[in-house]
Amino acid sequence: MRRAELAERLHQVRERIAAACAAAGRDVAEITLIAITKTRPASDVRLLYELGQRDYGENRDQEAAPKAARCADLPITWHFVGQLQTNKVASVARYADIIHSVDRLRLVRALGNAARRQERVLTCLIQVNLSGPDGDPGRGGAPADQVGPLAAAIASEAGLVLGGVMAVAPLGVPATGAFTRLAPAAAAVRAVRPAATIISAGMSGDLEEAVAADATHLRIGTALLGDRRPPLM
Ligand SMILES: *Cc1c(COP(=O)(O)O)cnc(C)c1O
Repeated sequence: MRRAELAERLHQVRERIAAACAAAGRDVAEITLIAITKTRPASDVRLLYELGQRDYGENRDQEAAPKAARCADLPITWHFVGQLQTNKVASVARYADIIHSVDRLRLVRALGNAARRQERVLTCLIQVNLSGPDGDPGRGGAPADQVGPLAAAIASEAGLVLGGVMAVAPLGVPATGAFTRLAPAAAAVRAVRPAATIISAGMSGDLEEAVAADATHLRIGTALLGDRRPPLM
């Protein structure tokens, strides 16, 4: 039953992505769909895996660490998309492959130390705050003028790979306008490392706007998994 529901939802999300790519004149092969499985059990990860889904994202280490451990036998890519405290970095570095929420220098150093100690390579995206001067700091991210310094810091840490940028559209304003502000940040990051081409933007409600704004990675929760439940832990 759950398998059939997830299959149908995955199909619908893939159709939306295909339509958005067609409208934007883009190739669907440029897009990576990340299933955001927060509040959902490891069994959902397994079902989606059987349906061909390979990239998964979580926003809280308390929930993500045990879930990733339960799925350690699956060759999947884990994305960490939530605000990250430095005291959680050692734990997150054990299972995450791509960290989307790098927004301050202290965090860059902590991630570099953890990656080297654990002999892991962590791809880091700089989370950019798109809310503008009188916006919504609660959604996190570095101000635009910090993107260059953060990119240089990530590029200089052994164990870290500069991957690109990430953003969450601010509440209460059209996503299209906000996502336009991501392009200069993405260019500033590519100026430091030309291969850092990831643009992580777009959630269930604004994936079309994100595809139109050149997103490469979409973080989709409720459209794939249904309404969120209370936290698992
Ligand atoms: C929960 C979450 C998502 C997914 O949101 P939906 O609206 O459920 O698709 C994407 N990005 C981040 C950072 C999240 O925390």
